[in-house]
Amino acid sequence: MPRRTKIVATLGPATDDPKMMDKIIRAGVDVVRLNLSHDSHDSQLDRAERIRDRSRASGRQVGVLCDLQGPKIRIGRFKNDYIVLDEEDEFILDASCPLTDGDGIRVGLTYPGLVNDVSRGDTLLLDDGALVFWISEVDGQEIHCKVVVGGKLSNNKGINKQGGGLSAPALTEKDRADIKFAAEIDADYLAVSFVRSAEDVSEARKLLEEAGGKGGIIAKIERAEALDCIEEIIEVSDAIMVARGDLGVEIGDAELPAVQKNLIKIARKMNCVVITATQMMQSMIDSPIPTRAEVFDVANSVLDGTDAVMLSAETSVGKYPHKVIAAMDRVCVEAEKQAIVRRSQHRIDSVFGRVDEAIAMATMYTANHLGVTAIAALTESGSTSKWMSRISSGIPIYALTRNVETRRKVTLYRGVYPVSFDVASTNIGEVNEEVIDELLRRGEVRENDLVIITKGDRSGVEGQTNIMKVMRVGEHVLPKEN
Ligand code: PGA
Ligand code: MN
Repeated sequence: MPRRTKIVATLGPATDDPKMMDKIIRAGVDVVRLNLSHDSHDSQLDRAERIRDRSRASGRQVGVLCDLQGPKIRIGRFKNDYIVLDEEDEFILDASCPLTDGDGIRVGLTYPGLVNDVSRGDTLLLDDGALVFWISEVDGQEIHCKVVVGGKLSNNKGINKQGGGLSAPALTEKDRADIKFAAEIDADYLAVSFVRSAEDVSEARKLLEEAGGKGGIIAKIERAEALDCIEEIIEVSDAIMVARGDLGVEIGDAELPAVQKNLIKIARKMNCVVITATQMMQSMIDSPIPTRAEVFDVANSVLDGTDAVMLSAETSVGKYPHKVIAAMDRVCVEAEKQAIVRRSQHRIDSVFGRVDEAIAMATMYTANHLGVTAIAALTESGSTSKWMSRISSGIPIYALTRNVETRRKVTLYRGVYPVSFDVASTNIGEVNEEVIDELLRRGEVRENDLVIITKGDRSGVEGQTNIMKVMRVGEHVLPKEN
């Protein structure tokens, strides 16, 4: 059985070696993430071109995701690159301090507006929560802090405010330029960092479309405010990311497990795709094997129903990018054997608004209850396969399409596998034969297997799926006309 849960891996210096690119494709990466917080457009473009080239050469479809930096607030640099702070020390975050002039007393800020967003008694977390500051006073451009948890503080570390409430808009000037870049390289997904509201997502979509981009939009859920309007955000997003790094700092790490489970549940229910991200196999940056806790984390997110699990530093700067993907792969495959992820109560009580949606639901119900081997969805935009993949099942869903953008997009959907397929015939019976022959040719089905095919009367038109056909392999050959 192929793995259903998809693996997103961040590219970086550690994956730039051409041999390593081939290794991570072979290990099973489905989507690569270009983290636009780092490196130049030129080097990211180079990565996108090379992964597509190698993906073509290997015959394994890989999607490309561009991740915007967003308004991550950072401290400036220190004259000596870092300082060490002890508990009870006083330290100043100073919006008027030049960004390169930090010392043991003060350091600059990339977002001067921070001084207006905080007041005495607030807690700031630096370096993903490694250091904790308590604000004793805000005086003009200076935020006076008392160190609650100390340690080494080095150049450009991030700052989060506990509880959220920072005013920085989701899209910075850099992000706007990066959206154009994402459109230019024809990225399959654009991830928007620190979204506060549905408007932030819609604005990013508008900018991407204006720039000629066709990718889906992923809302990164990493601000406390986003949780308060999560349904509105999901409504306008193609996917969400449970961005546990920043989110955990804002809402507290102990809150994360419940929030993750809930976000996955709501997303699936609302026909949205969901990625679980950050520190999933963190120890594998330096180690060739994961910890038991990491194995459980990946497996638990599979049981929660996530579409994809994501790797960040583990692959971008880690020592063993291909090994971490292989480890994730085997953990996902084992977790998927558990019965709980194959049964579904999904939308058992709902009324469907569309014919294609109803066909997708009927297909999954039939497939799960009839012992079907494969589902073949002839699709233009991939939406039928997306509806299908919201239903828990162990049956592979092949998205057959002539459209390369659709094939790349479905790389993120759990249990959906892209197949390049162009309908040669206009005769419906002959199309069925072509589909089964394609699955046979690929070794996905055998004689006597049951297959469900979905399609529309008018092929090549979006949203037209209105046929569900159950076929038995071997009985599908039509008598030849003479
Ligand atoms: P980042 O987002 O890696 O871009 O910070 C993910 C997260 O915050 O978890
Ligand atoms: Mn983040």
